[in-house]
Amino acid sequence: MKEKVNIAGVEFDAVRYIDVLTAVEVFVNQGHQKHMIVTPNPEMVVYSQKHEDFRKILNSASLAVPDGIGILWAAHYLSLPRSKSGFGGIIQVIGSLFQVFFKMKAIYRVLPARVTGADLLFKIVEESQKKGWRIYLLGAAPGIAGIAIDRLCKKYPKAVFSGSFAGTPAETHEDELCERINLAEPDILFVAYGSPAQEEWIHRNLHKFSSVKVAIGVGGAIDFAAGKAKRAPKLLRSLGLEWFWRLITQPRRFKRIWNATFVFVKLIFRLKRGIDS
Ligand code: UDP
Repeated sequence: MKEKVNIAGVEFDAVRYIDVLTAVEVFVNQGHQKHMIVTPNPEMVVYSQKHEDFRKILNSASLAVPDGIGILWAAHYLSLPRSKSGFGGIIQVIGSLFQVFFKMKAIYRVLPARVTGADLLFKIVEESQKKGWRIYLLGAAPGIAGIAIDRLCKKYPKAVFSGSFAGTPAETHEDELCERINLAEPDILFVAYGSPAQEEWIHRNLHKFSSVKVAIGVGGAIDFAAGKAKRAPKLLRSLGLEWFWRLITQPRRFKRIWNATFVFVKLIFRLKRGIDS
């Protein structure tokens, strides 16, 4: 794996989906070790600034994939030569944000692709048909993971799901959940408890698994797979405007989207300009 790309203290791997699938295959075949894959987005990077323990958990992962065009932008913008004047700095940040909007190649120079938890779920399930990986879905509201499995099995008929359970990320329930998962003997575990709960849960429990070799925090991916939540139309996604779609369809997310956009850009700008927060 190439060198990590550090964004405000969070380390990312410069990978595409195909690289993640290759890494998953290596992890599963290695057998003896257990791996966590994290999918940090701008909101998680913002959160990690004031939550050192969470940042350490993210950085302890075997693989950290950039879930959000904002992460690709930050990697590109931070790699640019630092403009000397304050005015030049403002022009530089605005210019780089325009590059995101117009999907210019430069944005993909440092980190080559956006790799979302939602797409990873589909791609890993698809690949599991060839590789025989057994999959378990943990999290989402009761009944949703079952619907997701039905839909995924229609699309990928050779995929093998060893089970699913809603559960809760509460520490009091985790031993019981781990036992349940161990009995089902999956190779790959998707955990959808939202961030930071899902990464903290995986970090606390990874060592308790007997068959799981890879655990991945995937946020709302099970909701998407079940058709309960709708992904943004392709055009908006390709323009890096998935956050805008979520704002219109789920206005209660305003605070989270504000953190993922304005607060994140401000954080990265200040970091580049060497302004203490
Ligand atoms: N969730 C859960 N138990 C909890 C909290 C959340 O199962 O105690 C699930 C929730 O149902 C959803 C997922 O965690 O399926 C988080 O989704 P969200 O859209 O917030 O994640 P994002 O993709 O934004 O990280």
